[in-house]
Amino acid sequence: MSKTAQAATTQALDQDTGMLHMEGVYHRFGEHPAVQDVELDVHPGEVVCLLGPSGCGKTTLLRIAAGLEVLQHGRVAINGRTIAVPGGRHLPPEKRNVGLVFQDSALFPHLTVLENVTFGLPGRQGRGQRHHALALLEKLGMAAHAEAYPHTLSGGQQQRVALARALAPSPQLMLLDEPFSSLDARLRDRIRDDTLHVLKEVGAGTLLVTHDPEEAMFMADRIALMRDGRIVQTGTPQELYCAPKDPFVVTFFGDVNEVSGTVRGGRVETPVGDVDADGLAEGSTARVLIRPEALRVAELDAPPEAHRHSHVLMAKLLGRSSLVHLCAHARDGCESHLHARVPGVFLPAAQQPVRIHLDTSQVFVFPADGD
Ligand code: ATP
Repeated sequence: MSKTAQAATTQALDQDTGMLHMEGVYHRFGEHPAVQDVELDVHPGEVVCLLGPSGCGKTTLLRIAAGLEVLQHGRVAINGRTIAVPGGRHLPPEKRNVGLVFQDSALFPHLTVLENVTFGLPGRQGRGQRHHALALLEKLGMAAHAEAYPHTLSGGQQQRVALARALAPSPQLMLLDEPFSSLDARLRDRIRDDTLHVLKEVGAGTLLVTHDPEEAMFMADRIALMRDGRIVQTGTPQELYCAPKDPFVVTFFGDVNEVSGTVRGGRVETPVGDVDADGLAEGSTARVLIRPEALRVAELDAPPEAHRHSHVLMAKLLGRSSLVHLCAHARDGCESHLHARVPGVFLPAAQQPVRIHLDTSQVFVFPADGD
């Protein structure tokens, strides 16, 4: 394409209003396709989580947005401005007005916390900048450590400073790659909470990479779930959890019970009750995924005559919930081992007969030949 034509195309493309806009993005490392056909938007003030198993391409996509990888195919725009087209414009990371935080965001060891946060700000010695940096440190609970050096801080404190440093230039977009994964569980919960509130308060659009579905649900306004380089489903946490597009989306959010059955009269029989076949063809085999919390369990005094019943194999307290291992009996006599997750302490004895009620809103039916 000639330079003039390319400039015209870029100008025409500069109309997006989304904070981050990625379209038709592919990326290869040698022969290996790391990112394929990705369309993604992050709107102003929105937190979007890139979620997926290890190696699915999350970090590569974030690095493309940051400008740390050169775009090979597709287009990237930030705040309506095209910043990367293959073989054309590639705005370097420092000119993209993005804040970056990584798993181990190395702070400058020879600078104090406050100096780390003001580093890179224009006129960083000025009172205004110091005030601004201190206000950010205050929001993140680190103002008392402003004069400390990084080696005297815990890992969690260092991540808070890294976040303040990334936020200091008031970027339009924050790009966070597994920022909490090196922290222990209790600390992680607190820092996640503080980070979410600070991001919402400053109103930065945010793309956050994580492999942890609970973290994504906690942080995200929307989640983009990736698999093998592609985005499988994008939506609110509720949309992904309650209306998953395929079995991968269901299983990624936690342990599920899986049974199969034949579609008859628009229904599929399972050992814990019939469910709607969701439009699958009559006579076809359905794959039924049942979340453990879909099984409500009530103890029975004795197995009722001529009534299908289930019994307890074992029960374990997991803290906020109990996990009950059940043996459920189908009409044809087949037995299935199912897990029920029930709130609180509920520890029925082994062999206890139980009645199971199925909450069908947490049951998902797919063709058996789907992946
Ligand atoms: P993780 O959660 O483990 O960090 P991820 O989802 O972020 O994984 P990426 O780091 O984006 O995945 O990697 C995607 C694929 O690209 C992987 O197969 C990885 O091995 C490969 N890959 C990533 N970076 C490079 C590189 N610089 N050179 C060659 N292959 C790479």
